[in-house]
Amino acid sequence: MNQNLYAQFEQRFPHDDGAPAMVLPGGRLYTYGQLKSESARYARLLTSLGAQPGDRIAVQVEKSASAVFLYLGALRAGCVFVPMNPAYQRGELAHLLGDARPHVFVVRPQAAAQGRVLAAAAGVPHVLELGDDGEGEIAQAAARQVPRSAIAQRSADDLAAILYTSGTTGRPKGAMLTHRNLGVGVSTLHRFWAFEPGDVLLHILPIYHFHGLFVALHCALWNGSAMRFEPRFDAARAVALLSSSTVCMGVPTHYVRMLGEPGLDVAACRGMRLFVSGSAPLLPDTFNAFRRRSGHAILERYGMTEGGMFASNPYLGERRCGTVGRALPGVSLRVVDAGGASAAPGETGQIQVRGANVFAGYWRLPEKTSEEHTVDGFFKTGDLGRLSEDGYLTIVGRDKDLVISGGLNVYPKEIEEVIDALPGVRESAVIGLPHPDFGEAVVAVVVRDTSIDCTAVPQAADVVGAVKASLAAFKVPKTVHFVEELPRNAMGKVQKNLLRERFASGRGASAAKNTRKKRQHDPA
Ligand code: AMP
Repeated sequence: MNQNLYAQFEQRFPHDDGAPAMVLPGGRLYTYGQLKSESARYARLLTSLGAQPGDRIAVQVEKSASAVFLYLGALRAGCVFVPMNPAYQRGELAHLLGDARPHVFVVRPQAAAQGRVLAAAAGVPHVLELGDDGEGEIAQAAARQVPRSAIAQRSADDLAAILYTSGTTGRPKGAMLTHRNLGVGVSTLHRFWAFEPGDVLLHILPIYHFHGLFVALHCALWNGSAMRFEPRFDAARAVALLSSSTVCMGVPTHYVRMLGEPGLDVAACRGMRLFVSGSAPLLPDTFNAFRRRSGHAILERYGMTEGGMFASNPYLGERRCGTVGRALPGVSLRVVDAGGASAAPGETGQIQVRGANVFAGYWRLPEKTSEEHTVDGFFKTGDLGRLSEDGYLTIVGRDKDLVISGGLNVYPKEIEEVIDALPGVRESAVIGLPHPDFGEAVVAVVVRDTSIDCTAVPQAADVVGAVKASLAAFKVPKTVHFVEELPRNAMGKVQKNLLRERFASGRGASAAKNTRKKRQHDPA
């Protein structure tokens, strides 16, 4: 049997070719019949350019219906889809093209000149343009093709995609995802989140990232669902579209922005079945406020580029705020201590996962791949977390964000939770900065909440005092910086590396040193 992911999707598409697949702003509708014929044209175009099964097709374009046809066309042709963040600049692109060595590179017209130069340097044979609204030379060339109805034969272990890690530190690495990885991933989520006939997905995520492409889009295709396909997120529009949708997937920032819309209420969400959040931590304030306003408990899940979703709160049952739920069916998930032994419930350690959805390794980096796996085949996620007695996982942060002060481990999230609970604080990020005595010093970066009437604007002393009152002395920030907002990437992740750079170089905003006590703890 053909294990090509596209073949798996097509078997599940509605029998009626007229069934809606994507509705774009302005009302432009694409049916499942068009999804099949358009992707077949793109498949023909790619093969006419000499692309063979296994060849990479690199794509740096905006979200559009044509971008979806191109993705499905690449799968149909047996090629390996390599989406790239449109925010990537020259240096990053040069690295990605040199690493992925695609046969075809699809670029936005405004970046085409640079794309051609970089492609030539990397030996990429074909560069084609695709405009932000899905127009451009590749769309025109595809329109001239006779649809290629054949679907390239692929085995479960063949690559379907290479997704570069978001790379908040270091150079992006290519995560190799097979037809099995993606097929198992989507079928598990489809079942676990109880997709049903008639579901309509509000698609507000970008499609160069796992979340928007392999979680949101895939779930809709697997279900043969219609999507409200929004190329750009607009909170007011999203809230208005809830009445004609049943499922929404977003990052926490989307939910924060929707909360800023007066139209978000129970009536607006009456037809909604499910709100899913992931890619970054959902703050309890957001979870609670959204529940009050919409009547829905957002379902938080956890996963990453290297294999998709690993844990999820349940569809039925308790969605526990501050946790990402239990391991998904088919995923073995464990938390281990520094020696590799299983951590006791409540103990923080490294999260490791194993399962058919977990990626096949890093592209052209066999050593890195084996470094990041244990001898019994678990992938070391690089995330820190703890499991409750009943298996709910709490993410404590990235391993790399762990602060080691005076030889003692400081988990930023624990401190951030205390600071966030202070009146007048919107959010915070705790980082470690080089310190001559302690190795690293705990530093808090705080965003004040200016939207509420707060008589006492929190000061550094309040932040320090609150942490001191509830946590051990070695966790108390040595410096507190106040900023207007935290730097985030497009997926809503706080870029702690940028904060570290900014404050290590002393270019920070208002800072207050906690000098009340000279030494807060002795190095361990
Ligand atoms: P990416 O590979 O860009 O999808 O980033 C994956 C990383 O995002 C994970 O390793 C986690 O650090 C983080 N992440 C994903 N989902 C969550 C979540 N629900 N809560 C906290 N962090 C998350």
